[in-house]
Amino acid sequence: MRELDDIHTVGVVGAGTMGSGIAQVAATNGYEVLLRDVDQAALASGSDAIRESLDQFVDSNRLTDSEAASIRDRITGTTDLEAMAEADIVVEAAPEEMGIKQDIFERLDGIVPPGVVLATNTSTLSVTSIAAATDREPLVVGLHFMNPVPLMPGVEVVVGEHTATRTVALATDFAESVEKETWRTDDKPGFVVNRVLIPWICEGIRALDEGVSRKEDIDRGLKLGTNVPMGPLELADHIGLDICLNAAETLHEELGDRYKPPYLLRRKVEAGDLGKKSGQGFYEYD
Ligand code: NAD
Repeated sequence: MRELDDIHTVGVVGAGTMGSGIAQVAATNGYEVLLRDVDQAALASGSDAIRESLDQFVDSNRLTDSEAASIRDRITGTTDLEAMAEADIVVEAAPEEMGIKQDIFERLDGIVPPGVVLATNTSTLSVTSIAAATDREPLVVGLHFMNPVPLMPGVEVVVGEHTATRTVALATDFAESVEKETWRTDDKPGFVVNRVLIPWICEGIRALDEGVSRKEDIDRGLKLGTNVPMGPLELADHIGLDICLNAAETLHEELGDRYKPPYLLRRKVEAGDLGKKSGQGFYEYD
């Protein structure tokens, strides 16, 4: 299997919101990038998104014009999946549909040299099921970048049922090499972030629907009350309502009613473990 030092060319499959961002951060950190989408129009729109994002970095003096131009030069668009034969690692960011992802992974498995890690940016689908479309299940891992990729600092590393420890280590090293911090999660529905975030967003939407407050005040309340940069409705708009619905449907199907207060919460309160004020909650405080 390849080590981080062997990775020079990063393949990215899908040039949409996430794929263009992943291509951008990889090229920004010195990798050659092969960016694949189904047609020229999709590639052009990915390329426009990268240009606009880089322009913002230039405008805020975080990159010079010539650095932005070099980053763009390191990204080669293609409609040919066979081009991935040159990749030292591949990150897939195609639409969130199991059939599409399995088809891509099955084809990639026949194209990409043995030993090359294949990562999926899926938000909610099973990494294990995607990996099952290949004959290299130990080399398949989830690398769940967050939106917008160039600005968000973290990546969730999702460990599938058959993902090898070395694959997890390489995926983690790769994410860190593009200046992201990582955390690990098992291949359980929604992983860590969406498992917690999606019900939060859904509850904000229900609060609006049930007339609890105006949309501006729901967002304002959560921002001022919990110190998050965006309220649930703003964040849902930012992520994309279709993506939120898709994620909510997957979680509902897999996990059922998640809104009942958790048993653990009730038990801790009964035990007097009230959090910071009692010195013990989920964490211990001095
Ligand atoms: P998107 O719709 O913006 O982009 C998907 C791209 O894939 C499109 O350009 C489409 O033309 C292309 N595509 C379709 N079939 C393809 C194929 N066979 N080969 C190559 N490209 C193909 O979607 P997105 O928001 O970038 O999401 C991509 C993945 O990232 C999904 O799995 C999604 O769940 C995940 N994700 C999205 C977000 C988000 O906030 N948008 C955040 C984290 C993870």
